[in-house]
Amino acid sequence: MHRFEFRKRRLYCEEVPVDTLAATYGTPLYVYSRNTMLDHFTRLDSALAGIDHTICFAVKANSNLAVLRTFARAGAGFDIVSAGELYRVIAAGGDPRKAVFAGVGKTEDEIAFALGKRILFFSVESDVELARINAVARRLKTTARFCIRVNPNVDAHTHKYITTGTHENKFGLDFATAGKVYAAAGRMKNVRAVVVQMHIGSQITTTRPYQMAVGKLLAFVAGLRALGVDVQYVDIGGGMGIVYRDETPPTPVAFANAVAGRLKEFGATILFEPGRFLVGSGGILVTRVQYIKKTAHKTFVIVDGGMNDLIRPALYEAYHEIVPCVRRAGKGLVADVVGPICESGDFFAKDRALPALKAGDAIALMSAGAYGFVMSSNYNTRPRAAEIMVDGAKHRVVRRRETWDDLLAPERG
Ligand SMILES: *Cc1c(COP(=O)(O)O)cnc(C)c1O
Repeated sequence: MHRFEFRKRRLYCEEVPVDTLAATYGTPLYVYSRNTMLDHFTRLDSALAGIDHTICFAVKANSNLAVLRTFARAGAGFDIVSAGELYRVIAAGGDPRKAVFAGVGKTEDEIAFALGKRILFFSVESDVELARINAVARRLKTTARFCIRVNPNVDAHTHKYITTGTHENKFGLDFATAGKVYAAAGRMKNVRAVVVQMHIGSQITTTRPYQMAVGKLLAFVAGLRALGVDVQYVDIGGGMGIVYRDETPPTPVAFANAVAGRLKEFGATILFEPGRFLVGSGGILVTRVQYIKKTAHKTFVIVDGGMNDLIRPALYEAYHEIVPCVRRAGKGLVADVVGPICESGDFFAKDRALPALKAGDAIALMSAGAYGFVMSSNYNTRPRAAEIMVDGAKHRVVRRRETWDDLLAPERG
Protein backbone atom coordinates (compact mmCIF):
# COMPACT_ATOMS: atom_id res chain seq x y z
CA MET A 1 0.00 0.00 0.00
CA HIS A 2 1.23 3.45 -0.85
CA ARG A 3 -0.18 6.96 -0.79
CA PHE A 4 0.14 7.75 -4.49
CA GLU A 5 -3.31 7.57 -6.07
CA PHE A 6 -5.46 9.13 -8.73
CA ARG A 7 -8.30 11.37 -7.68
CA LYS A 8 -10.29 11.92 -10.82
CA ARG A 9 -7.62 12.72 -13.40
CA ARG A 10 -4.83 13.88 -11.09
CA LEU A 11 -2.13 11.86 -9.40
CA TYR A 12 -1.81 12.75 -5.71
CA CYS A 13 0.96 12.13 -3.23
CA GLU A 14 -0.95 12.02 0.06
CA GLU A 15 -2.95 15.29 -0.07
CA VAL A 16 -0.87 17.05 -2.73
CA PRO A 17 -1.37 16.89 -6.51
CA VAL A 18 1.91 15.77 -8.07
CA ASP A 19 1.54 18.11 -11.07
CA THR A 20 1.52 21.02 -8.60
CA LEU A 21 4.81 19.78 -7.15
CA ALA A 22 6.30 19.47 -10.66
CA ALA A 23 5.21 23.03 -11.47
CA THR A 24 6.49 24.39 -8.16
CA TYR A 25 9.83 22.64 -7.90
CA GLY A 26 10.65 21.76 -11.52
CA THR A 27 11.59 18.41 -13.00
CA PRO A 28 13.15 15.89 -12.81
CA LEU A 29 11.94 15.61 -9.23
CA TYR A 30 11.90 12.90 -6.59
CA VAL A 31 8.73 12.99 -4.49
CA TYR A 32 8.56 11.00 -1.26
CA SER A 33 5.52 10.17 0.83
CA ARG A 34 6.55 10.31 4.46
CA ASN A 35 3.49 8.41 5.64
CA THR A 36 4.00 5.61 3.12
CA MET A 37 7.50 5.08 4.46
CA LEU A 38 6.37 5.27 8.08
CA ASP A 39 3.47 2.87 7.42
CA HIS A 40 5.82 0.26 6.05
CA PHE A 41 8.02 0.55 9.11
CA THR A 42 5.08 0.38 11.50
CA ARG A 43 3.42 -2.53 9.72
CA LEU A 44 6.59 -4.60 9.73
CA ASP A 45 7.37 -3.64 13.32
CA SER A 46 3.92 -4.67 14.53
CA ALA A 47 3.93 -7.88 12.49
CA LEU A 48 7.13 -8.82 14.31
CA ALA A 49 5.78 -7.82 17.72
CA GLY A 50 5.94 -11.41 18.98
CA ILE A 51 9.69 -11.57 18.37
CA ASP A 52 12.43 -9.70 20.23
CA HIS A 53 13.65 -7.63 17.29
CA THR A 54 15.10 -4.42 15.90
CA ILE A 55 14.52 -3.11 12.39
CA CYS A 56 17.69 -1.55 10.98
CA PHE A 57 16.87 0.50 7.90
CA ALA A 58 19.38 -0.17 5.11
CA VAL A 59 20.63 3.37 4.56
CA LYS A 60 21.94 2.73 1.07
CA ALA A 61 18.39 2.36 -0.28
CA ASN A 62 17.62 6.04 0.40
CA SER A 63 19.96 8.10 2.52
CA ASN A 64 18.26 11.50 2.43
CA LEU A 65 18.50 13.07 5.89
CA ALA A 66 14.74 13.58 6.10
CA VAL A 67 14.15 9.88 5.36
CA LEU A 68 16.72 8.85 7.96
CA ARG A 69 15.20 11.24 10.50
CA THR A 70 11.75 9.77 9.89
CA PHE A 71 13.00 6.28 10.73
CA ALA A 72 15.21 7.46 13.60
CA ARG A 73 12.17 9.04 15.26
CA ALA A 74 10.21 5.83 14.73
CA GLY A 75 12.89 4.01 16.73
CA ALA A 76 14.72 2.26 13.89
CA GLY A 77 18.32 1.15 13.89
CA PHE A 78 20.42 1.48 10.74
CA ASP A 79 22.33 -0.84 8.46
CA ILE A 80 25.30 1.05 7.03
CA VAL A 81 27.86 0.08 4.42
CA SER A 82 30.30 3.02 4.74
CA ALA A 83 31.50 5.49 7.34
CA GLY A 84 29.83 8.21 5.28
CA GLU A 85 26.48 6.55 5.88
CA LEU A 86 27.19 6.49 9.62
CA TYR A 87 28.00 10.20 9.45
CA ARG A 88 24.61 10.77 7.78
CA VAL A 89 22.76 8.66 10.35
CA ILE A 90 24.26 10.72 13.18
CA ALA A 91 23.51 13.98 11.35
CA ALA A 92 19.89 12.85 11.03
CA GLY A 93 19.60 12.17 14.77
CA GLY A 94 19.96 8.38 14.49
CA ASP A 95 21.55 6.41 17.31
CA PRO A 96 24.97 5.04 16.28
CA ARG A 97 24.63 2.39 18.99
CA LYS A 98 21.85 0.90 16.87
CA ALA A 99 23.97 0.92 13.68
CA VAL A 100 25.39 -2.24 12.14
CA PHE A 101 28.22 -1.92 9.65
CA ALA A 102 28.34 -4.27 6.64
CA GLY A 103 30.36 -4.33 3.42
CA VAL A 104 33.34 -6.23 2.03
CA GLY A 105 35.88 -3.40 1.91
CA LYS A 106 35.93 -1.44 5.17
CA THR A 107 39.06 0.73 5.45
CA GLU A 108 41.03 1.34 8.66
CA ASP A 109 39.72 4.90 8.85
CA GLU A 110 36.13 3.72 8.53
CA ILE A 111 36.61 1.09 11.22
CA ALA A 112 38.19 3.65 13.56
CA PHE A 113 35.37 6.14 12.97
CA ALA A 114 32.71 3.50 13.63
CA LEU A 115 34.47 2.28 16.80
CA GLY A 116 34.65 5.86 18.03
CA LYS A 117 30.89 6.17 17.58
CA ARG A 118 30.29 2.87 19.44
CA ILE A 119 28.23 1.15 16.77
CA LEU A 120 26.38 -2.03 17.69
CA PHE A 121 28.60 -4.35 15.65
CA PHE A 122 30.61 -4.92 12.50
CA SER A 123 29.41 -7.49 10.00
CA VAL A 124 32.66 -9.12 8.93
CA GLU A 125 33.07 -10.66 5.49
CA SER A 126 36.54 -12.25 5.73
CA ASP A 127 39.27 -13.39 8.13
CA VAL A 128 41.57 -10.62 6.88
CA GLU A 129 38.95 -8.00 7.66
CA LEU A 130 38.49 -9.38 11.18
CA ALA A 131 42.26 -9.17 11.77
CA ARG A 132 42.17 -5.53 10.67
CA ILE A 133 39.25 -4.71 12.98
CA ASN A 134 41.10 -6.38 15.86
CA ALA A 135 44.22 -4.29 15.13
CA VAL A 136 42.32 -1.01 14.95
CA ALA A 137 40.40 -1.81 18.15
CA ARG A 138 43.69 -2.62 19.91
CA ARG A 139 45.18 0.68 18.80
CA LEU A 140 42.10 2.49 20.14
CA LYS A 141 42.17 0.38 23.34
CA THR A 142 38.65 -0.89 22.86
CA THR A 143 36.76 -4.05 21.90
CA ALA A 144 34.83 -4.41 18.65
CA ARG A 145 31.65 -6.47 18.61
CA PHE A 146 31.31 -8.39 15.40
CA CYS A 147 29.49 -11.06 13.46
CA ILE A 148 30.53 -13.09 10.49
CA ARG A 149 28.30 -12.66 7.51
CA VAL A 150 27.49 -16.18 6.42
CA ASN A 151 26.54 -17.09 2.91
CA PRO A 152 23.89 -19.82 3.29
CA ASN A 153 24.03 -20.72 -0.42
CA VAL A 154 20.34 -20.31 -1.12
CA ASP A 155 19.11 -18.85 -4.37
CA ALA A 156 16.81 -15.91 -3.74
CA HIS A 157 15.47 -16.12 -7.31
CA THR A 158 16.00 -12.48 -8.05
CA HIS A 159 18.04 -10.55 -10.66
CA LYS A 160 21.62 -11.81 -10.94
CA TYR A 161 23.06 -8.45 -9.88
CA ILE A 162 21.05 -8.40 -6.65
CA THR A 163 21.33 -11.99 -5.46
CA THR A 164 23.98 -12.23 -2.77
CA GLY A 165 23.41 -15.49 -0.92
CA THR A 166 25.00 -18.08 -3.21
CA HIS A 167 28.62 -19.18 -3.31
CA GLU A 168 29.11 -17.39 -6.63
CA ASN A 169 28.98 -13.99 -4.86
CA LYS A 170 31.70 -11.98 -3.17
CA PHE A 171 29.55 -11.66 -0.06
CA GLY A 172 29.90 -13.54 3.20
CA LEU A 173 31.60 -16.81 4.03
CA ASP A 174 30.38 -20.38 3.69
CA PHE A 175 29.47 -22.03 7.00
CA ALA A 176 32.69 -24.06 7.25
CA THR A 177 34.97 -21.07 6.70
CA ALA A 178 32.82 -18.88 8.95
CA GLY A 179 33.13 -21.47 11.73
CA LYS A 180 36.91 -21.34 11.46
CA VAL A 181 36.95 -17.54 11.60
CA TYR A 182 34.74 -17.53 14.71
CA ALA A 183 37.15 -20.02 16.27
CA ALA A 184 40.19 -17.90 15.30
CA ALA A 185 38.48 -14.85 16.79
CA GLY A 186 38.57 -16.54 20.19
CA ARG A 187 42.34 -15.94 20.16
CA MET A 188 42.05 -12.25 19.28
CA LYS A 189 41.89 -9.91 22.27
CA ASN A 190 40.04 -6.92 20.86
CA VAL A 191 37.08 -8.48 19.09
CA ARG A 192 34.05 -10.23 20.52
CA ALA A 193 31.56 -12.34 18.56
CA VAL A 194 27.95 -11.56 19.46
CA VAL A 195 26.05 -12.09 16.23
CA VAL A 196 25.53 -14.14 13.10
CA GLN A 197 24.42 -12.29 9.99
CA MET A 198 23.11 -13.17 6.54
CA HIS A 199 21.68 -11.19 3.64
CA ILE A 200 20.62 -13.34 0.72
CA GLY A 201 19.60 -10.82 -1.91
CA SER A 202 17.17 -8.11 -2.82
CA GLN A 203 13.64 -7.87 -4.23
CA ILE A 204 12.77 -11.33 -2.86
CA THR A 205 9.08 -12.00 -3.39
CA THR A 206 8.49 -15.28 -1.56
CA THR A 207 9.21 -16.41 2.00
CA ARG A 208 10.79 -19.67 0.88
CA PRO A 209 14.42 -18.47 0.52
CA TYR A 210 14.22 -16.98 4.03
CA GLN A 211 12.80 -20.18 5.48
CA MET A 212 15.55 -22.23 3.89
CA ALA A 213 18.32 -19.86 4.95
CA VAL A 214 17.00 -19.49 8.50
CA GLY A 215 16.85 -23.27 8.81
CA LYS A 216 20.51 -23.55 7.83
CA LEU A 217 21.44 -20.68 10.12
CA LEU A 218 19.78 -22.32 13.13
CA ALA A 219 22.03 -25.35 12.88
CA PHE A 220 25.08 -23.13 12.51
CA VAL A 221 24.20 -21.00 15.53
CA ALA A 222 23.70 -24.12 17.64
CA GLY A 223 27.19 -25.23 16.63
CA LEU A 224 28.69 -21.86 17.55
CA ARG A 225 27.04 -21.86 20.95
CA ALA A 226 28.47 -25.30 21.58
CA LEU A 227 31.89 -23.72 20.92
CA GLY A 228 31.13 -21.09 23.56
CA VAL A 229 30.28 -18.19 21.23
CA ASP A 230 27.76 -15.91 22.94
CA VAL A 231 25.27 -15.37 20.09
CA GLN A 232 23.06 -12.53 21.39
CA TYR A 233 21.77 -11.35 18.01
CA VAL A 234 20.84 -13.04 14.78
CA ASP A 235 20.67 -10.70 11.82
CA ILE A 236 18.71 -12.05 8.88
CA GLY A 237 19.42 -9.12 6.56
CA GLY A 238 17.03 -7.37 4.22
CA GLY A 239 15.77 -8.15 0.76
CA MET A 240 11.97 -8.11 1.13
CA GLY A 241 10.49 -7.36 -2.26
CA ILE A 242 7.93 -4.77 -3.33
CA VAL A 243 5.50 -4.42 -6.22
CA TYR A 244 6.98 -2.90 -9.36
CA ARG A 245 4.73 -4.60 -11.86
CA ASP A 246 2.75 -7.73 -10.99
CA GLU A 247 4.83 -9.27 -8.19
CA THR A 248 3.00 -10.59 -5.15
CA PRO A 249 5.47 -10.21 -2.29
CA PRO A 250 4.35 -11.47 1.13
CA THR A 251 2.73 -8.89 3.40
CA PRO A 252 4.60 -8.11 6.62
CA VAL A 253 2.15 -10.35 8.49
CA ALA A 254 2.61 -13.23 6.05
CA PHE A 255 6.36 -12.75 6.22
CA ALA A 256 6.35 -12.73 10.01
CA ASN A 257 4.07 -15.78 10.17
CA ALA A 258 6.34 -17.70 7.81
CA VAL A 259 9.55 -17.11 9.76
CA ALA A 260 8.52 -16.19 13.31
CA GLY A 261 8.43 -19.70 14.76
CA ARG A 262 11.92 -20.54 13.60
CA LEU A 263 13.30 -17.15 14.57
CA LYS A 264 12.12 -17.63 18.14
CA GLU A 265 14.13 -20.84 18.28
CA PHE A 266 17.31 -18.75 18.14
CA GLY A 267 16.60 -17.34 21.59
CA ALA A 268 18.27 -14.11 20.48
CA THR A 269 17.35 -10.59 19.42
CA ILE A 270 16.55 -10.75 15.71
CA LEU A 271 17.70 -7.92 13.49
CA PHE A 272 16.07 -7.14 10.15
CA GLU A 273 17.69 -4.88 7.57
CA PRO A 274 15.04 -3.91 5.05
CA GLY A 275 15.86 -1.14 2.62
CA ARG A 276 13.70 -1.38 -0.47
CA PHE A 277 10.64 -2.59 1.47
CA LEU A 278 10.61 0.50 3.70
CA VAL A 279 11.12 3.18 1.05
CA GLY A 280 10.62 1.72 -2.43
CA SER A 281 6.94 2.37 -2.98
CA GLY A 282 7.17 5.60 -0.96
CA GLY A 283 8.90 7.51 -3.73
CA ILE A 284 8.37 8.45 -7.38
CA LEU A 285 10.47 10.20 -10.00
CA VAL A 286 8.58 12.93 -11.82
CA THR A 287 9.90 13.92 -15.22
CA ARG A 288 8.51 16.02 -18.06
CA VAL A 289 8.02 15.01 -21.68
CA GLN A 290 10.19 17.17 -23.94
CA TYR A 291 9.50 15.66 -27.33
CA ILE A 292 7.62 12.82 -28.89
CA LYS A 293 9.86 11.63 -31.69
CA LYS A 294 8.47 9.35 -34.36
CA THR A 295 10.71 7.38 -36.72
CA ALA A 296 9.80 4.87 -39.39
CA HIS A 297 10.33 2.10 -36.81
CA LYS A 298 9.52 3.44 -33.40
CA THR A 299 8.13 6.18 -31.24
CA PHE A 300 10.31 7.72 -28.53
CA VAL A 301 8.98 9.71 -25.62
CA ILE A 302 11.96 11.87 -24.69
CA VAL A 303 11.83 13.14 -21.10
CA ASP A 304 14.00 15.49 -19.03
CA GLY A 305 15.08 12.77 -16.56
CA GLY A 306 17.76 10.30 -17.51
CA MET A 307 19.72 7.27 -16.42
CA ASN A 308 21.80 9.63 -14.29
CA ASP A 309 18.63 10.26 -12.23
CA LEU A 310 17.33 6.66 -12.10
CA ILE A 311 19.67 3.96 -13.28
CA ARG A 312 17.65 0.88 -12.33
CA PRO A 313 16.20 0.18 -15.80
CA ALA A 314 19.67 0.38 -17.39
CA LEU A 315 21.48 -1.49 -14.63
CA TYR A 316 18.99 -4.17 -13.57
CA GLU A 317 16.54 -4.23 -16.48
CA ALA A 318 14.13 -2.98 -13.85
CA TYR A 319 10.50 -2.21 -14.61
CA HIS A 320 8.91 0.98 -13.30
CA GLU A 321 5.26 1.69 -13.93
CA ILE A 322 4.81 5.00 -15.77
CA VAL A 323 1.71 7.14 -15.31
CA PRO A 324 0.84 10.68 -16.36
CA CYS A 325 0.53 13.17 -13.50
CA VAL A 326 -2.70 14.38 -15.12
CA ARG A 327 -4.60 11.92 -17.26
CA ARG A 328 -5.74 13.27 -20.60
CA ALA A 329 -8.37 11.91 -22.96
CA GLY A 330 -7.29 10.42 -26.26
CA LYS A 331 -5.52 7.51 -27.80
CA GLY A 332 -2.51 5.93 -26.11
CA LEU A 333 0.75 5.01 -27.78
CA VAL A 334 3.45 2.36 -27.66
CA ALA A 335 6.86 3.92 -27.21
CA ASP A 336 10.30 3.80 -25.66
CA VAL A 337 10.61 6.30 -22.82
CA VAL A 338 14.13 7.68 -22.99
CA GLY A 339 16.26 10.41 -21.44
CA PRO A 340 18.56 13.02 -22.98
CA ILE A 341 21.83 11.25 -22.17
CA CYS A 342 24.23 10.14 -24.87
CA GLU A 343 23.97 6.40 -24.16
CA SER A 344 21.70 3.74 -25.64
CA GLY A 345 21.23 2.48 -22.07
CA ASP A 346 19.48 5.73 -21.21
CA PHE A 347 15.91 4.46 -21.15
CA PHE A 348 13.12 4.09 -18.60
CA ALA A 349 10.90 1.77 -20.63
CA LYS A 350 10.97 -0.08 -23.93
CA ASP A 351 7.98 -0.73 -26.19
CA ARG A 352 5.69 0.37 -23.41
CA ALA A 353 1.97 0.83 -23.89
CA LEU A 354 1.35 4.33 -22.55
CA PRO A 355 -1.77 6.42 -22.13
CA ALA A 356 -2.25 9.56 -24.22
CA LEU A 357 0.70 11.95 -23.78
CA LYS A 358 1.81 15.28 -25.19
CA ALA A 359 5.03 17.24 -25.03
CA GLY A 360 5.03 19.22 -21.79
CA ASP A 361 3.18 16.56 -19.77
CA ALA A 362 4.66 15.50 -16.45
CA ILE A 363 4.84 11.74 -15.93
CA ALA A 364 5.73 9.70 -12.86
CA LEU A 365 7.93 6.64 -12.59
CA MET A 366 6.42 4.72 -9.71
CA SER A 367 8.21 2.82 -6.92
CA ALA A 368 11.38 4.85 -7.28
CA GLY A 369 11.96 5.52 -3.58
CA ALA A 370 14.66 2.86 -3.20
CA TYR A 371 17.95 2.82 -5.10
CA GLY A 372 16.75 5.88 -7.02
CA PHE A 373 18.26 9.21 -6.05
CA VAL A 374 21.08 7.51 -4.12
CA MET A 375 22.40 5.94 -7.33
CA SER A 376 22.13 9.16 -9.34
CA SER A 377 25.16 10.86 -10.82
CA ASN A 378 26.23 14.01 -12.63
CA TYR A 379 26.98 12.22 -15.89
CA ASN A 380 26.69 14.58 -18.86
CA THR A 381 27.12 17.46 -16.34
CA ARG A 382 23.53 17.13 -15.26
CA PRO A 383 22.71 18.63 -11.87
CA ARG A 384 21.00 16.05 -9.70
CA ALA A 385 17.25 16.26 -9.14
CA ALA A 386 15.61 17.91 -6.15
CA GLU A 387 13.95 15.72 -3.52
CA ILE A 388 10.62 16.68 -1.95
CA MET A 389 9.04 15.20 1.16
CA VAL A 390 5.26 15.22 1.37
CA ASP A 391 3.56 14.82 4.73
CA GLY A 392 -0.22 15.07 4.47
CA ALA A 393 -0.94 18.40 2.81
CA LYS A 394 2.55 19.73 3.56
CA HIS A 395 5.54 19.50 1.25
CA ARG A 396 9.10 20.71 1.51
CA VAL A 397 12.43 20.48 -0.26
CA VAL A 398 14.63 17.93 1.49
CA ARG A 399 17.40 18.28 -1.06
CA ARG A 400 17.57 21.26 -3.34
CA ARG A 401 18.25 20.84 -7.03
CA GLU A 402 21.96 21.07 -7.77
CA THR A 403 23.31 23.99 -9.77
CA TRP A 404 26.07 24.06 -12.37
CA ASP A 405 28.22 25.83 -9.79
CA ASP A 406 27.69 22.99 -7.32
CA LEU A 407 29.10 20.66 -9.94
CA LEU A 408 32.15 22.78 -10.66
CA ALA A 409 32.91 23.71 -7.05
CA PRO A 410 35.36 20.88 -6.22
CA GLU A 411 37.33 21.28 -9.47
CA ARG A 412 40.38 23.39 -10.33
CA GLY A 413 40.91 23.97 -14.05
C1 LIG B 1 21.63 -3.80 0.63
C2 LIG B 1 21.59 -4.47 1.94
C3 LIG B 1 20.39 -4.54 2.66
C4 LIG B 1 19.08 -4.02 2.15
O1 LIG B 1 18.60 -4.72 1.04
P1 LIG B 1 17.12 -4.47 0.51
O2 LIG B 1 16.99 -5.42 -0.61
O3 LIG B 1 17.03 -3.06 0.07
O4 LIG B 1 16.19 -4.77 1.62
C5 LIG B 1 20.42 -5.14 3.91
N1 LIG B 1 21.57 -5.64 4.42
C6 LIG B 1 22.74 -5.59 3.74
C7 LIG B 1 23.96 -6.15 4.36
C8 LIG B 1 22.80 -5.00 2.48
O5 LIG B 1 23.95 -4.96 1.81
